[in-house]
Amino acid sequence: MRIGVLGAGQLGRMLALAGYPLAKEFVFYDMSGSPSAGLGEVIVDRDGSYLDDFLSRVDRVTYEFEHLPVEVAEKLAQHKPVHPCPRALQVCQNREAEKTLFGQLGIPTPEWKIADSAASLKAAAEALGCPVVAKSITEGYDGKGQAVLRDPEQAEEAWTAIGHPRVIVEKFVNFKREVSIIAVRGEDGDVAFYPIAENTHHEGILRYSIAPAPGLQPHIQQDAEKYIKALLNELNYVGVLTLELFETEDGLVANEMAPRVHNSGHWTIEGSMTSQFENHIRAVSGHALGNVQARGLSCMINIIGEHGDIERMLELPYAHLHLYNKGERPGRKLGHVNILADSYEELVWRVRNCAQFLPGSPEFKSSLTTKG
Ligand code: AMP
Repeated sequence: MRIGVLGAGQLGRMLALAGYPLAKEFVFYDMSGSPSAGLGEVIVDRDGSYLDDFLSRVDRVTYEFEHLPVEVAEKLAQHKPVHPCPRALQVCQNREAEKTLFGQLGIPTPEWKIADSAASLKAAAEALGCPVVAKSITEGYDGKGQAVLRDPEQAEEAWTAIGHPRVIVEKFVNFKREVSIIAVRGEDGDVAFYPIAENTHHEGILRYSIAPAPGLQPHIQQDAEKYIKALLNELNYVGVLTLELFETEDGLVANEMAPRVHNSGHWTIEGSMTSQFENHIRAVSGHALGNVQARGLSCMINIIGEHGDIERMLELPYAHLHLYNKGERPGRKLGHVNILADSYEELVWRVRNCAQFLPGSPEFKSSLTTKG
């Protein structure tokens, strides 16, 4: 079976790495002009003129990034099975549609309002009570697209900074930590859930994911499973879906979802019986799902901007290095390291030991380290 992947970055690369042992072949369709998957056939097509060519070479279609025109996915779906379905893509591309769907399915979200002018942003901030987070409805550009308002008087400034005709204004969530759940649904409707991961960001980029999330109460995992299952079934979804959430004193609050394999699931490559990548390939190919049980405790460390001391990291007996074959550039995801351990104490020690070989890596902070 030949799988067509829309997008050709590191997620596509890791999908292919997981798919080759199952005798899948891959054709990547790249619209960026700078594919990095480095495996399989790559069709670079900036203006859509090779879409038919791509279609003729593949049996099924999936994607590794969600910012492609929905019409492209819809057009493809008229000819070949496209998993997940274009509707999932559509929902994820629009924060208003996404939060509306969450609400319809009983998934808790921050209280939110829509603003389409500086004045209505101010009114929304007043109604919700500051602080609030204003986000462009669709993807921001140049790192723009979000602003925190500590006072409604900041509305004018925030509106200009965001530079988008329509924004969602959310009440600021006072969260204990950020977490994510990854689930997979097969063509037959079978669903499997990975354990929740705890995610630490630095300068807006994911740095560390620990799974299973330390100290997680069983009802939190159950709630997350209930929420993501509702989404999977509503969308008649096939493949891996990620739901990013805030854990608060009162339970989970949903932030956003990604219709694909996710950075916070890279730990599953060695840390789970079946990785998110293999399970996505299994699902989109119509196979049975694989066992999602964790093999132990994992922490994924992202390699951002510069590679660091690769040789020293390769010497660590508990570290698994994954490089994406990309050039160094500030803020760029170049690879990740998966660390495995039998106890959280050992995990913390190993993560710190590894992180010293990653210059510029922020200090390891998590619920494990803040407890002292
Ligand atoms: P997003 O692009 O929606 O994932 O937001 C990026 C980051 O901003 C999140 O990972 C959070 O750290 C923070 N953030 C977003 N929305 C909220 C919110 N309503 N309350 C508090 N923090 C938020």
